[in-house]
Amino acid sequence: MISTRPKEPSTSQIPRANSLAGDVYDAIFNQLMSLKIAPGARITVDNLVKEFNVSHTPIREALGRLEGEGLVVKQHLVGYRASPQITRHRFDELYELRLLLEPAGAAKAAKAMNEERLAILTEAAGVMTRRDNGDERANYSAFARQDAIFHDRIMEFAGNELIREMLTFQHTHFHIFRLMFHRRVTEEALGEHQTLLDAFAVHDASAAEKAMRIHIEHSRDRLLPAFDEI
Ligand SMILES: [Zn+2]
Repeated sequence: MISTRPKEPSTSQIPRANSLAGDVYDAIFNQLMSLKIAPGARITVDNLVKEFNVSHTPIREALGRLEGEGLVVKQHLVGYRASPQITRHRFDELYELRLLLEPAGAAKAAKAMNEERLAILTEAAGVMTRRDNGDERANYSAFARQDAIFHDRIMEFAGNELIREMLTFQHTHFHIFRLMFHRRVTEEALGEHQTLLDAFAVHDASAAEKAMRIHIEHSRDRLLPAFDEI
């Protein structure tokens, strides 16, 4: 298991499952999302090789994938770093973009809702309520990923692929969840997702629009204190 306490001698073990590269990716992703690897911190392949007791190959693969997701940056002749924290300005831009696109998308999705789609969204939201293990870092990063999937599926059902791609490309959820590692970020969102699902269940476009707007505004307000510490 990945340690839940920072800066102690590592005893991290990666289970030798079918997908070693995937497990290594998950482990590094968890550390980035929960700020065990701090924004801007240097990431050395050799240290990760030692920590996880694996070869260079899965580490390099994982870092390449994380680079594609904007969570790490590779600098020529220097190596990898965790991406710096998003700025307050960028944060405001991201939330402005979300508030323009997602409430309207939720309204469209409510109109286009059917049993199958509702089941997909209910399942996606339900995964977030589970605590698979006692590893808070893993739970937190799983929540961030699942929240991204939940919001992405809503935009899929809204039916505008261009808007969906635009939001996906920002990797919004990864960046905002990395601002703060705190239970409040995840727990309060669950009730807001349920309000959204209730609106979808009765095809109520205006209720869905409102629920999404409130969810995004509350998400913004939950994360804003992160900037007080910078
Ligand atoms: Zn959400």
